[in-house]
Amino acid sequence: AVGYYRVVKENRNLYNMVQDLKGNIRVYCRIRPSFSYEAKTVIDFVGDDGSLVILDPLKPHKDGRKVFQFNRVFGPAATQDEVFKDTQPLIRSVMDGYNVCIFAYGQTGSGKTHTMSGPSGGSMKDRGINYLALKDLFQLSNRRKDIINYDIHVQMVEIYNEQHTLEIRSCTGDNGLSLPDATMHPVKSTTDVLNLMKLGEVNRVVSCTAINNSSSRSHSVLTVHVHGKDISGSTLHSCLHLVDLAGSERVDKSEVTGDRLKEAQYINKSLSCLGDVITALAQKSSHIPYRNSKLTLLLQDSLGGHAKTLMFAHVSPEEDSFGETVSTLKFARRVSTIELGAARVNRESSEVMQLKEQIESLKKALTRKE
Ligand code: ADP
Ligand code: MG
Repeated sequence: AVGYYRVVKENRNLYNMVQDLKGNIRVYCRIRPSFSYEAKTVIDFVGDDGSLVILDPLKPHKDGRKVFQFNRVFGPAATQDEVFKDTQPLIRSVMDGYNVCIFAYGQTGSGKTHTMSGPSGGSMKDRGINYLALKDLFQLSNRRKDIINYDIHVQMVEIYNEQHTLEIRSCTGDNGLSLPDATMHPVKSTTDVLNLMKLGEVNRVVSCTAINNSSSRSHSVLTVHVHGKDISGSTLHSCLHLVDLAGSERVDKSEVTGDRLKEAQYINKSLSCLGDVITALAQKSSHIPYRNSKLTLLLQDSLGGHAKTLMFAHVSPEEDSFGETVSTLKFARRVSTIELGAARVNRESSEVMQLKEQIESLKKALTRKE
């Protein structure tokens, strides 16, 4: 095993280069700290090359070892800043016109909301990726202000029981989806963002399950729309989806009934649709079933085609979570086998823009005549 790790380590640079070339889908694993001193951990090894070994508590010998390899693994001691640092380049590429999707997957209580939003209660310490990303985008926008003028809008959407009434439609051809009914908020500063996030947190649907009494039963999507116009007149528009998924745990474990059971089934439906889409992409299938759930429809342009995608697979270290941990890691492994074509920039020349503007004004003239 020692030899194996050395080889992996020596190949790390090469591995990263290959990853950059095929480029578009990355998987990071994050293990949250254990909250109990008595609880035994299933984590056997965390490599700085993205390797992870877990140990089956029922087979604590050699055959109980399960080895995984991701782009990166963050152990329980990793800070929010460390996690952000490895995510920043991807986030910044949205300012160059790439569509980017970051989603947090894992069972309830594994740390998804911690990674995306930070601890609840609104303290400024340990803010998550959502806030740090927007802060970084403002800084970048400011730094580039002499060459390019950016407009940043954010939208917050909850997908609950697959039946939110928001119409999802493509607003910019294959450049990104937008939800016309969800209010688009222009944001100019981190204060604007914080205010919006507070609002979002209050509105979030929270209910009780046997696993965690504040588990979120919905998918929460924060979308950042970026429009830029540079001095030559060419424009770019792109979006960044930041997704905090509902818990991936199996229904029976939550001991839920009635409405809660219905919720759990809907949640499982959209997560299994996500799995189907990912499998179809991995198999290069000619039909990708994006339309089977609201979630996959929303993320359509970020999961296939020309976007850059990052999945955080969250796991709990405790023995009693072992079953869910294995299923999360297997899902994550499936995601990491997807190869997509090169990511593409959503940039238009000023000529195309002029033509579009002409079309718009002609359309307006037509409706005035009617
Ligand atoms: P999820 O959103 O997956 O249900 P949470 O993010 O709410 O899980 O995490 C569950 C609990 O664990 C919360 O109290 C959270 O603050 C804490 N937690 C999760 N990850 C970390 C971490 N990396 N460091 C410290 N606390 C964490
Ligand atoms: Mg959560």
